[in-house]
Amino acid sequence: MEFRDLKTQYLQHKEEIDSAMQRVVCNAQFIGGEPIRQLEEELAAYVGVKHCISCANGTDALQLALMAWGVGEGDAVFVPDFTFFSTAEVVPWVGTVPIFVDVDRDTFNLSPSALEEAVKSVLKEGRLTPKVVIAVDLFGQPADCDTIRKIAEQYGMWLLEDGAQGFAGRIGDHMACSFGDITTTSFFPAKPLGCYGDGGAVFTDHDEWAELIRSYKVHGKGEDKYDNIRIGLNSRLDTLQAAILIEKLKFLDEETERCNEAAKRYTSFLKEIVKTPIVLPDYYSSWAQYTVQFDGKEQRERAMVKLKDAGIPSMIYYKKPLHRQKAFAGLLAGQPACPITEEICDTCLSLPMHPYLKAEEIERVCDILQENL
Ligand SMILES: *Cc1c(COP(=O)(O)O)cnc(C)c1O
Repeated sequence: MEFRDLKTQYLQHKEEIDSAMQRVVCNAQFIGGEPIRQLEEELAAYVGVKHCISCANGTDALQLALMAWGVGEGDAVFVPDFTFFSTAEVVPWVGTVPIFVDVDRDTFNLSPSALEEAVKSVLKEGRLTPKVVIAVDLFGQPADCDTIRKIAEQYGMWLLEDGAQGFAGRIGDHMACSFGDITTTSFFPAKPLGCYGDGGAVFTDHDEWAELIRSYKVHGKGEDKYDNIRIGLNSRLDTLQAAILIEKLKFLDEETERCNEAAKRYTSFLKEIVKTPIVLPDYYSSWAQYTVQFDGKEQRERAMVKLKDAGIPSMIYYKKPLHRQKAFAGLLAGQPACPITEEICDTCLSLPMHPYLKAEEIERVCDILQENL
């Protein structure tokens, strides 16, 4: 059984994807060109945001957003304690420190009340100025961006939505990746919309930020890339990846719906034996992961071993709260406690989830869990 089955996906759409790749190779335009323009236009329309700027990966996308805002020394950037390393890694890169904030017990997403407390304590301490809050759409469910936006506005902060896992999710009719002042996503192969290598994008309605990001991603270009008016990065999406993404975007909604059906099936079998994922009313998840919680580390360990013995892959996303990562050891100042993140890290387990998961496969995973807990 595959944790995320990219092979079956390719085989189902081999013809279109092969010919899209072939066209790029025949045109021999590997950087920039029509597929990049078309993809950016289609992604912006899909999400419902004015500008989409493609870039090399989801980590660069986050960094480009912070660069466009001129975030640096003395600024506080609030980051959920329970997320992938990237979300916080970019903060020291622009010269300041992340403040890790606890998450909601049910959604695993940034807790608005913990955020407000963290902002107040930073203000009270008086060393840093609250500047940005990064809300992550963890495991596919959009963060509570309505509430978080209100807090951001109240304290004069910008909202950066990290939609690396949230692309194709939504709240009501509003698509994920449209909630931030700037939003970023990743096209890493295993993400809801994945390419065949690395890729990412930045979304915003703001014209000036979009223009700045277009400059920063190509060596701080002015008139062209040999006119350099600021220090930037080399962070382009390959044309080949754009061509693949244009094809994959066509069947993304159908795939997301299949993931939602798989999630429903899992939950109907598992809800009595583990804590199953909670999707809030009116929210639609893209199911980047299907993550359950056990009664403690030992029970989780037992489940993992039994699954593994049966040839079923499972993964712990994430084992360690970010504030405990060694890389941040010298950078933590006035770090608030994050007890819910600690608890989730000790109890969570992600099960196989993808659009091609069969009903029998889901039932097998559930049987093994049921028999062994
Ligand atoms: C994958 C991921 C990223 C980084 O994306 P890359 O394309 O791998 O650089 C950032 N944030 C979150 C939440 C992610 O899951």
